[in-house]
Amino acid sequence: MLVLVVNCGSSSIKYKLMDMVQESVLLSGLSERIGIAGSRIKQENNKGEELVLEQDLPNHKVALETILNCITDPKYGAIKDTAEIKAVGHRVVHGGEKFNKSVVIDAELMKVLEEMSELAPLHNPPNIVGIKTCQELMPNVAHVAVFDTAFHSAMSKQAYTYAIPYEYYEKYKIRRYGFHGTSHKFVSHRAAEILGKPVKELKIVVCHLGNGSSISAVGNGVSQDTSMGFTPLPGLPMGTRTGDMDPAIVPFLMEKEKLSIEEIGNVMNKKSGVLGVSGISSDFRDLEDAANKGNERAELALDMFAYGIIKYIGAYTAALGGLDAVVFTGGIGENSMTMRAKILKGLAYTGLQIDEEKNNSRGKEVIISKPGAPFVAMVVPTNEELMIARETKELVQ
Ligand code: AMP
Repeated sequence: MLVLVVNCGSSSIKYKLMDMVQESVLLSGLSERIGIAGSRIKQENNKGEELVLEQDLPNHKVALETILNCITDPKYGAIKDTAEIKAVGHRVVHGGEKFNKSVVIDAELMKVLEEMSELAPLHNPPNIVGIKTCQELMPNVAHVAVFDTAFHSAMSKQAYTYAIPYEYYEKYKIRRYGFHGTSHKFVSHRAAEILGKPVKELKIVVCHLGNGSSISAVGNGVSQDTSMGFTPLPGLPMGTRTGDMDPAIVPFLMEKEKLSIEEIGNVMNKKSGVLGVSGISSDFRDLEDAANKGNERAELALDMFAYGIIKYIGAYTAALGGLDAVVFTGGIGENSMTMRAKILKGLAYTGLQIDEEKNNSRGKEVIISKPGAPFVAMVVPTNEELMIARETKELVQ
């Protein structure tokens, strides 16, 4: 059974064609700079053949048509005809309160998704365009929406309610939703498999650390709390996003710097985080290099990031009433041994000792705490596409 996974952003489309009998990847690709000069598609099939197509892609429709041609390309593709694809799984960022699990897309659902766009104005509109276009191009296959918020939908009212007048929750649905849910679900469930215990019996803190970072407290097999909120802005300091800060800074800065709503949004989303603090880069590789050369602000940015994570792990251990595993994932969590070591050294008070040799690895499933630790620290590479394809397969079957 072939499932195409589509992740449609404002100017990019990531896609993966998966054989869900073997759970193997037949082909994966990325279309970038859609609607901008210099657009292109890069694709690699399971024979390692790489296709780079530099071509004008003025909109998502043209991009998706071209992607389907690349998938069926006789030399670089993986299938002869798109009719071989049985279902398409779409990543949808915001499911609001309505969607607590993946659903097969129908006209009714599209209406609700469109109504909900104001909750995620940057993300949901391109997701919707992607769904509509794929439906047009592949009308005879099932389309499934897999929501980034769904895994967090079991959070208790006390965890998701903000202390603002309750009428704003009722009127505008302002509450914590959380994001990266597909990753938190995949990683926590995979960690339980590795530990050989039912996920429902484990208390797990998942640290998804990448360009965007979030932490979740997973208990009873579902997310009990998470660091992102109404939007993906709060929680940890990120590549360019502030993370948690005093909300009173917003009107203060707007007044002092004469910033409009759009400008302050831009500062908080694009100019803050480790980029804002270091003044160097949002990429942790650059920051680690700079810190090694003695750059104090790069070091401060890295220390703040680790400190934020250490604090969340403490808070979520209390929220879960104990801790069995801390799991690292995402570009930083999977690859930065320095950052993992920094964080785990901050947890030494628990008796946890890091196994430096095991920690010296990248992008692999590995337990990095020494035996006898009060909880296990481990790395589990995320695989959001596989999770989306699994949920799609389950619903279609
Ligand atoms: P993601 O958003 O999950 O793809 O993560 C991307 C981020 O991972 C990059 O911006 C880097 O900051 C970080 N990253 C990737 N590889 C490494 C590495 N070897 N060491 C440190 N950070 C890394």
